[in-house]
Amino acid sequence: MINKIVLASGNAGKLREFSQLFSTWKIEVLPQSEFDVVDAEETGLSFIENALIKARHASRISDLPALADDSGLAVDALGGAPGIYSARYSGEGATDASNNSKLLSALDGVETLARDASFHCALAFVRRYDDPVPLVCSAQWRGRILEKPMGEQGFGYDPLFLVPSEGMSSAQLPREVKNRLSHRAQAMALFEVMWHEQMAGIDLD
Ligand code: IMP
Repeated sequence: MINKIVLASGNAGKLREFSQLFSTWKIEVLPQSEFDVVDAEETGLSFIENALIKARHASRISDLPALADDSGLAVDALGGAPGIYSARYSGEGATDASNNSKLLSALDGVETLARDASFHCALAFVRRYDDPVPLVCSAQWRGRILEKPMGEQGFGYDPLFLVPSEGMSSAQLPREVKNRLSHRAQAMALFEVMWHEQMAGIDLD
């Protein structure tokens, strides 16, 4: 049976969220830093490919089952950019502020109704580095890119991401509301369903 998995991320917030989910199955989630895993090169062309690359890499080095996520923002009018390049959109040394300012410039003159976008989150779980049947799922959160930043919470592109159902940016949403609606929350809910369907009762040794 699985009682430990490694998370292919160094992000403390993600470790907390995934630990909560997996604790319901009595599985401990360990950060990849405990196994000296250096970040994998993200050579995929999609969130799903990169999540799988990261999970396989962490599993190979730790010799444990591994979970990885990959997420970002895709803007319709920009053909899906910044997409998998969301964290490094404005180049070497990119910050949230420089990424947001590049996004606003790229959408300069684009009218409100043409500024639709989605946050995406892909999750990949492998039992071994060469697992031929990984659990993979992804979810998106639809919204619209504002013309100027609003709100102080969250991170990344949150101040520019209007959540139409709430009438505010994702940086203005209370944390618990974002945690209920977000691409990551939706992907985790899907993952939970898949886990129950595909893993329950299977001996994972
Ligand atoms: P990662 O999956 O943590 O590597 O996220 C990639 C990038 O996507 C981040 O650096 C952010 O720029 C962006 N991103 C992903 N999720 C969110 C979110 O919930 N809010 C704002 N930006 C996000």
